[in-house]
Amino acid sequence: MRKRIIAGNWKMNKLPNEAKQFVANVSKKLPQSEKVEAIVCAPFPYLPALVDEAKGSNLKISAQNMHFEENGAFTGEVSPAMLQDIGVTHVIIGHSERRQYFAETDESVNKKVHAAFAHELTPIVCVGETLQQREANETNTHVEKQVSAAIEGLTEEQVAATIIAYEPIWAIGTGKTATSEQANEVCAHIRKVVAEKVSQHAADNMVIQYGGSVKPANVDELLAQSDIDGALVGGASLEADSFLQLVEAGI
Ligand code: 13P
Repeated sequence: MRKRIIAGNWKMNKLPNEAKQFVANVSKKLPQSEKVEAIVCAPFPYLPALVDEAKGSNLKISAQNMHFEENGAFTGEVSPAMLQDIGVTHVIIGHSERRQYFAETDESVNKKVHAAFAHELTPIVCVGETLQQREANETNTHVEKQVSAAIEGLTEEQVAATIIAYEPIWAIGTGKTATSEQANEVCAHIRKVVAEKVSQHAADNMVIQYGGSVKPANVDELLAQSDIDGALVGGASLEADSFLQLVEAGI
């Protein structure tokens, strides 16, 4: 049975005290359940303090990005070893905002996924189509290409441990959610591709999240789908109460 994973992606939001208060509050109130895992994906400067604040609780702390290189002359970048040393457990890789504004490519995503596993970080790999691609019926081929590139060269166990977040770009921050059927169709397609390319074992164990305007009002319907194992949530993860409701929906 796959675990449900609810991850809040704060993006570039919150000041240090707000971040700390959120984690102090949420880590105390998190439901004790084996069925669901809760993750907060925070900006770099807060990670050490948040890892500390979440200690002893079930809340995991994730980065939103990293570089694939070990170290060196890469001004402004953060390495996987730095995240590992801090005690971060997950890292978002290839979010559409990074692909769009920071020239992230399928190739850099693949390098980052390998670097994450080399440092015992679980990658949350984001894939998803534009509205134009959806209207041109290119969703499955596009997402399939992104997933195949991301997992290229991984072992079967690494693929099984990778988290994929299917986030249709047109549904991010727009209030437009894919219908639960639309979302499930693409998540099921991703699982089929992984089964064909890697193995049924990897496909059965891989956690596939949906992301794009997920909120307490629509999360139950999304999680009831056969191939949606969790959610990557932006806006609705910023308030502790709303984030806790999303986690509780995963039980
Ligand atoms: P929203 O939930 O704000 O649409 O953001 C989704 C997202 O991009 C999470 O990574």
